[in-house]
Amino acid sequence: MPLDEYKRKRDFSKTPEPAGDERTRSRRKRSPSAPLAFCVQKHLASHLHYDLRLEHDGVLLSWAVPKGPSLNSHDRRMAVRTEDHPRDYGGFEGVIPEGYGAGIVMLWDRGTWSPEVDDVDAALEKGDLKFALDGYKLKGSWALVRLRDRSDTAPAQRGRNWLLIKHADFWSGPIEITEFAPRSVVSDGDFDDILAADMPDLWATGRPATASGRGSAARLTQQVIESAARKILARNEAAESGPGAATKRGSRSRRKR
Ligand code: MN
Repeated sequence: MPLDEYKRKRDFSKTPEPAGDERTRSRRKRSPSAPLAFCVQKHLASHLHYDLRLEHDGVLLSWAVPKGPSLNSHDRRMAVRTEDHPRDYGGFEGVIPEGYGAGIVMLWDRGTWSPEVDDVDAALEKGDLKFALDGYKLKGSWALVRLRDRSDTAPAQRGRNWLLIKHADFWSGPIEITEFAPRSVVSDGDFDDILAADMPDLWATGRPATASGRGSAARLTQQVIESAARKILARNEAAESGPGAATKRGSRSRRKR
């Protein structure tokens, strides 16, 4: 059961993430020729990273890429294989208030992918998966290549360290795509907009665990919370001084007279 680890790590009474129960049903509905989905979720958690997910066999194969994908074919970006995710996770953008992965998830890119190998399972086994992406930000030919474990690699990490590499093609180039196109592909918002739309009570009243400490992700989270709080305040003020509010005030003062 590929989603066991996904489910074990999460408490679905506390996270808005998909519970992953759709698998059997949605898998049956799927026609074999339907395009395969991919997404990249920019995830501000204990560390900022980009989760690359490729649909395969009813789940999303997943790699966490700390620096994010690079369009430069000379770059090799570390990509740590993580637990398979349910397919409907590919539509998720929002705030995980607490627990595993606590933080803000932005849908940074999405689209379809196609393997450039005959057998994806064999390629994963071999540690060399070539594929093409057709997203809004990421396109063209890519490779995921598994690194050989070192003798001091912890047992739980064995086989998990890969490199994400852009092949040289029409879609490669020296542009730093994470800086050039930093925002959500669905809402065009940044982390603070996503948080302002859905501020968890826990974050509004106190500092979440992800915002404590001295790390760069903690500092960024703290800035994002402050910026989101300002946006919520501005939104509330605009609502109070809007036409509806003015009428209410007017009627109150008329009543006084
Ligand atoms: Mn993540």
